[in-house]
Amino acid sequence: MNIFVLNCGSSSVKFQIVNTDLDLFESDLDRMVAKGLIERVGTENAIYKFETEGSESVSGTGAVLDHKEAILKIKEWIESENTKINGVNGWQDIQAIGHRVVHGGERFTKSVLIDNEVLKQVEECNELAPLHNPANLKGITACSEIFGDKIPQVAIFDTAFHSTMPEEDYLYAIPYEFYEKYRIRRYGFHGTSHRYVAYRYRKISGRVKEETNIITLHLGNGCSMSAIKKGYSIFNTMGMTPLEGLIMGTRCGDIDPGIIEFLYRKGVGDFPAIMNILQKKSGLLGISGISNDMRDIEKAAKEGNHRANLALKMFALRTKRYIGSCLAEMGGADAIVFTGGIGENDVLSREMICEGLECFGIELDKELNRQDTKGKCMRISKEKSRCDIWIIPTNEELLIARDTVRVVKNAPREW
Ligand code: ADP
Repeated sequence: MNIFVLNCGSSSVKFQIVNTDLDLFESDLDRMVAKGLIERVGTENAIYKFETEGSESVSGTGAVLDHKEAILKIKEWIESENTKINGVNGWQDIQAIGHRVVHGGERFTKSVLIDNEVLKQVEECNELAPLHNPANLKGITACSEIFGDKIPQVAIFDTAFHSTMPEEDYLYAIPYEFYEKYRIRRYGFHGTSHRYVAYRYRKISGRVKEETNIITLHLGNGCSMSAIKKGYSIFNTMGMTPLEGLIMGTRCGDIDPGIIEFLYRKGVGDFPAIMNILQKKSGLLGISGISNDMRDIEKAAKEGNHRANLALKMFALRTKRYIGSCLAEMGGADAIVFTGGIGENDVLSREMICEGLECFGIELDKELNRQDTKGKCMRISKEKSRCDIWIIPTNEELLIARDTVRVVKNAPREW
């Protein structure tokens, strides 16, 4: 089956066409046959780039005033005579659409076929992810308008994988009535990525789900860590919103909530302004004052910049602390898996995070860690390390495509 995987942000639309065959799931023959991105959606000068497997890409700029126009532009490209996509000659060759939806609240614990009732319930989750869910919904509505009900649409939620967290993990120690009344709790995010890399690790290492505990580290612009016990997520560092937990590119992660009131009293701004600082001007950027990009920070640190060096140390320390916390909660781990832009590519961060964990049987092989790992799944722990350390490139689109097929075919979910 050819699945159109769609990821709509507030001003961007990303897509992939994944060729997936349910019977071949376990043989890894699924693959991306086309992909693309439109940025600055909603403007006269949107930028687009489309490419097909193994051939030249096309790019350009032009007016793309809303999500529907963006999807129509992609459709036009797919149907153009000049576009050669393996196995896809036009829309008639796309069998289903899989949408990334960020927040599924407590209602959605797995991927679902979209109908009017589902749409209404996703809309009810908007207040939990006001920056993301409305854009995801726009993508779904636009597809319904363009394709009618001829093509099934499936929603895959970032939060769903974490729906197995136990109460003691997801509740905050504030009056219980706020959970009952407003559903204030930890939801966890990046679920598609954590679920995918945990699955890949078990598959590559030949481990059985029921006997394997894994700590997955998704370190990109947004960063989160999950404790995955016997195949189920029991903890994710992100909370009710993706602001909690690890230090990120521009997000602060954990802070004392008292700081928010203090900043307010100091006249730094009203609550939205302060939240904006914590979301967009904190993290690596806020500490270093240089950049939210790990590459810039490391370059500056090498040149002797104190605050860049401090940002590196704080990033590694916070991450290490949470590894300790996941180890304690699961009673040890069989593997630690790094993924995301930093997790997959950044030698120094991995080294700093793993330093000092030898006493827990976590021993990084510094030589292996320094190998060129780009795009590769690789073990980077020493042979004698009790706990495996792996780099596994994430592939959320593949998981979305596979889930879409499963939902459409009503097949059981295996991972
Ligand atoms: P997102 O969370 O937006 O999907 P990514 O997973 O692409 O982000 O991660 C982006 C971050 O990964 C960048 O900000 C950068 O700090 C880091 N990164 C990407 N490539 C490298 C690299 N080769 N070396 C070190 N860091 C990298």
